[in-house]
Amino acid sequence: MWFDSHCHLHLCDEAGGPTDVIGRARAAGVSAMVTLGTDVATSRRALEIASADGVYAGVGMHPTDLEGWSPAALATIDGLLGDRRAVAVGETGLDFHHNGGRGGRQEEAFAAHIDLAKKHDKPLVIHTRDSVGEAIELLGGEGSPRRLVFHCWSGHEAHLRAALEMDAHISFAGNVSFSSAGDLRRLAALVPGERLLVETDSPFLTPVPNRGKPNEPRNVAHVGQAVADARGVSAHLLGELTTRNASAFFGVPAPTSP
Ligand SMILES: [Zn+2]
Repeated sequence: MWFDSHCHLHLCDEAGGPTDVIGRARAAGVSAMVTLGTDVATSRRALEIASADGVYAGVGMHPTDLEGWSPAALATIDGLLGDRRAVAVGETGLDFHHNGGRGGRQEEAFAAHIDLAKKHDKPLVIHTRDSVGEAIELLGGEGSPRRLVFHCWSGHEAHLRAALEMDAHISFAGNVSFSSAGDLRRLAALVPGERLLVETDSPFLTPVPNRGKPNEPRNVAHVGQAVADARGVSAHLLGELTTRNASAFFGVPAPTSP
């Protein structure tokens, strides 16, 4: 049994669209998933897609998707968070790889999402790229919400320890399965069991052995297998652990077998 803690079903058209992708995920033992919007329009779309059983939404504005960032957009996201299908605030965060470093609207938008997570008491889903230290710093300054996850972990060990100290959950994506990712697998073994999540980040970062194809939530088992191997446990146990963790973290019913 698997829970894909982070995907973007609105981007999975190449794989046949959300309905097909959700059906294949269920058939592969993925009983729940959280699909995240990255701006106002795709956050609305995430809510629509989350009308399906076992599918939940995150609403927010991604740091590389801030063209429409404005007080009105923020108010709309705030409103969408009142929807019961919205179980998380995000995807939000900081991206210094694509956006060329500090400054601009990223920090302002991230801080506003931190406030929304506290206001709605919903978990904050954080993207970082070349920016995990700055994200931790900003969270420290603002005061972090009760529940937060660093999705697609790729930072080094000191940052991992700092994130764990803030009571963050850590989610691993398909890159943990890449042959070059020995360091990341070592870190995957250091995360306390109760803080561990797995995800696909579909349609990105397709795990081994399906690299080269668009990613979809059914592949979360391959991510889980890589993390299970790193921790020296069975994929079955890892699947149960991370499904239980994700249900508690997002505040959704523990899934039964799909
Ligand atoms: Zn994402």
